[in-house]
Amino acid sequence: MWPKEFDYVRASSVDDVIQQTTNGMDAKILAGGHSLLPAMKLRLSEPGKLIDISRLPDLKGISANGTLSIGALSTHAEIAASADVQQYCAALAGACGQVGDHQVRNFGTLGGNIAHADPASDPPTVLVAAGATIHIQGADGARSVSAEDFFVDLFTTDLQMGDVITRVEIPNLSGAKTAYVKMAHPASRYAIVGVAVVLQMNGSTCTSARVAVGGATARAMRSSGAESALTGSSLDDAALNAAAAAVQSDISEAVMGDVNYPDSYRQAMAGVYLKRAVKAAIG
Ligand SMILES: Cc1cc2nc3c(=O)[nH]c(=O)nc-3n(C[C@H](O)[C@H](O)[C@H](O)COP(=O)(O)OP(=O)(O)OC[C@H]3O[C@@H](n4cnc5c(N)ncnc54)[C@H](O)[C@@H]3O)c2cc1C
Repeated sequence: MWPKEFDYVRASSVDDVIQQTTNGMDAKILAGGHSLLPAMKLRLSEPGKLIDISRLPDLKGISANGTLSIGALSTHAEIAASADVQQYCAALAGACGQVGDHQVRNFGTLGGNIAHADPASDPPTVLVAAGATIHIQGADGARSVSAEDFFVDLFTTDLQMGDVITRVEIPNLSGAKTAYVKMAHPASRYAIVGVAVVLQMNGSTCTSARVAVGGATARAMRSSGAESALTGSSLDDAALNAAAAAVQSDISEAVMGDVNYPDSYRQAMAGVYLKRAVKAAIG
């Protein structure tokens, strides 16, 4: 459980990070260290240099001004406790409040979480359902990627060498009903299955729905079938049953099980947790 020897530098700016990570093929960004350091100890990752970004002020802070802007270095605990996040996207505050334990929530950052793209992570599922945008600074300048396009596969994102996630932007969902629920692994608290919903309501009728599933699949993905089943309904039992069946069907090619929680179990649980997410959202 000892990592390979590495150099350590503290970055002075985002440009400095880009230069150092672009120059050194084996340099890696260090944020909260809660995914990278375990990977290094297991020798799954062997960077020659760590670029510590944890004190860069440009990557910190949460603000709400028409849209919600969350700096990449915001910790899960800060996001869960933020009144702005609770107002603009309650599901994200809820998801971050369910990440790991106190230590993980106090050190782990949103930027690190989504860059790592662990399929069992919680925030990616909410970001996909919420229609979030990931803002990135790289050697070729700044660019923005939708959360749906950002998560490409297992531990794989749209990030290129030298890219730094600067912030995550989320539309104002204060008028919508949102929720994230998960079946948590009993030891790590990572998601075995996680479902996020964003429901626009007109009285008791659901006028639009966005549904995303994570944990059960290699990357957080939307379920268009569940969204269609919920839209136009009063979210009654028939609609929920149809949506549950649709989500199971939509993830059937992508579902990813293991010896403890096989494919068929996770697929079934996606339907169960979809219903729970809708019920949690509408209270
Ligand atoms: C015991 C335990 C339980 C956990 N449980 C959960 C859980 O239930 N749910 C959950 O979602 N997560 C869980 N996590 C993971 C946790 O959320 C971490 O916060 C997260 O995965 C990584 O964030 P970090 O800031 O520690 O990133 P780091 O470990 O520092 O970095 C992770 C990766 O992201 C890159 N990176 C970091 N910041 C940036 C940036 N701004 N731009 C580009 N690349 C960047 C790094 O180079 C590295 O490759 C758990 C972790 C542990 C150790």
